Amino acid sequence: MSTEIQRGASGPLCPFSISKSLIDGVAVGEENPYANALAQFEKAVTYLNLKRGVAETLRYPKRELSVTFPVEMDNKDIKMFRGYRVHHSFALGPTKGGIRYSSDLTLDDVRALAMWMTWKCGLMNLPFGGAKGGVVVEPKELSPRELERLTRRYASEISILVGPESDIPAPDMGTNPQVMAWMMDTYSMHRGYSIPAVVTGKPVEIGGSLGRTEATGRGVAVTIREALRLKQIPIENATVAIQGFGNVGSVTSKIAHDMGMKVVAVSSSKGGVYRESGLDPQALVRQIDETGNILDFKDADQITNAELLVLKCDVLVAAAKENQVTSRNAGSVRARIIAEGANGPTTPEADEILNDMNVFIIPDILCNAGGVTVSYLEWVQDLQSFFWPVEEINLKLQKLMVKAFENVMEASRIYKVPSRVAAQILAVRRISDAIMIRGIYP
Ligand code: NAD
Repeated sequence: MSTEIQRGASGPLCPFSISKSLIDGVAVGEENPYANALAQFEKAVTYLNLKRGVAETLRYPKRELSVTFPVEMDNKDIKMFRGYRVHHSFALGPTKGGIRYSSDLTLDDVRALAMWMTWKCGLMNLPFGGAKGGVVVEPKELSPRELERLTRRYASEISILVGPESDIPAPDMGTNPQVMAWMMDTYSMHRGYSIPAVVTGKPVEIGGSLGRTEATGRGVAVTIREALRLKQIPIENATVAIQGFGNVGSVTSKIAHDMGMKVVAVSSSKGGVYRESGLDPQALVRQIDETGNILDFKDADQITNAELLVLKCDVLVAAAKENQVTSRNAGSVRARIIAEGANGPTTPEADEILNDMNVFIIPDILCNAGGVTVSYLEWVQDLQSFFWPVEEINLKLQKLMVKAFENVMEASRIYKVPSRVAAQILAVRRISDAIMIRGIYP
């Protein structure tokens, strides 16, 4: 049995053979997201008087589907692909979670992301459990028709788990509203009628919600504003560096800029740009749309991703991917606040270092919860076939984000723990309460 994932564990991992086989799949090391998600969970559990078996239930995914499937490429070759859909918990309701297309996706990534979705929905008080899925593929290497065929086949393969009352996918890295439209259409074709509520993050034309595309970045910006207030740092001209200039990072930059903050650096996987006097996010987005590149942005200096992460600034937004702030670079971070736009960007080892340095972390399950929150609003609108104006969506989102931020800060004071542990405590408590109230079947 692997000992590495027992970091911080309060007892033997699991006496059941089904769990042992899951454990065998967990790789060693600081950068395994599932091991990191488990380490975070174990920390929260020490503050909760959970029945032993309940904690055990939450350590492992409820179910995991692994599929392989063929796709015909444009040149008529047939290529095999691997995909996953993992449900972590459905104690609070249907499972909810994004679909990631990435060439280095692993089952452990999907397990971790599903677990984080459970905590995120619990923290935000949404009636959803956690799920995640994805395909091992580099989407940029496929033509639009190949991407559509791959998506439709993957949607068919996981359709045994998916449905508006059972499991509702959404976009994540490498997928977008068009991919969701193909998934919704494929599911609907199998049933013989249109079922918009089966996915969220769809185009508005087919039942998507206004404000969904911007929701994650908007939520990130709202939590940054609250954190600046808490730390008594003036919002006007607060300096912000953003790693990852995709959906989350670019929207965060625009809204932070509109709130009066100064975005001094942004980066994509190829590297980034820095300007002390501040960058214009709208112009950066235009340049990305036109050239796909930000590196030659005018009047700005080029910086590497490693340099961006240790820039002196008020807020570092980690909006790219997992494991960006690790034990190797955490000691060099000079930001006063880290906003986790991405899921799992800070490892547990880095967390310890940053806590000792008094860096305030807005944890991922709070910081980037705006996406699933507006996904919830989209699902509700689809079910009732009645749609709200964008102002109403943004207002509801803002209220829910501020409330969740306040709840986390209150728990942080009560339990005397850093914000991540506080957020996890609240989330795990909600799920474990639901499990106990429902009872253990049969
Ligand atoms: P995206 O694919 O739109 O953008 C990702 C960006 O990160 C791209 O600019 C890419 O170039 C950049 N990037 C990748 N590797 C990098 C690296 N090593 N250094 C710097 N930049 C790098 O993805 P997204 O939807 O913006 O998601 C980003 C993160 O936010 C992921 O962790 C995702 O799970 C999380 N998230 C997204 C949503 C959402 O609604 N899109 C919701 C919650 C959480």
